[in-house]
Order: sequence, then structure tokens, then C-alpha cells
Amino acid sequence: MAKKAQGRHTVGLKCSECNRFNYAISKNRAKRKKLELRKYCKWCRKHTLHTEGRI
Ligand SMILES: [Zn+2]
Repeated sequence: MAKKAQGRHTVGLKCSECNRFNYAISKNRAKRKKLELRKYCKWCRKHTLHTEGRI
């Protein structure tokens, strides 16, 4: 039996400076607004703005 992930999908958080995906999060589909979070980027080796994007 396949598990149904209703109303949820996985999106990636992409570094706005190097454009690499660093995080994968599960997001509620009801929230249409684009996520913007300050997270640590291991490639830039600092905290940068991460925006949501499809993996
Ligand atoms: Zn980066």
C-alpha cells in the first residue's frame, strides 16, 4: 500500500547566493506564499536567504 501524502508536498530551500538546495522541507499545500528563510549554507559557509523551490 502506498502512503498518501494528502495536502503535503516536499519543497527545497535554495540558497539565494549560490543557488544550491540545502534543505528539503515538507510543506502544507494550503500555504501558497513563498517561503523565505535565513538558513546556514554550507557552501557559502554563512547564513543566507533561502527561498523555496521545487526539487
Ligand atoms: Zn549558498
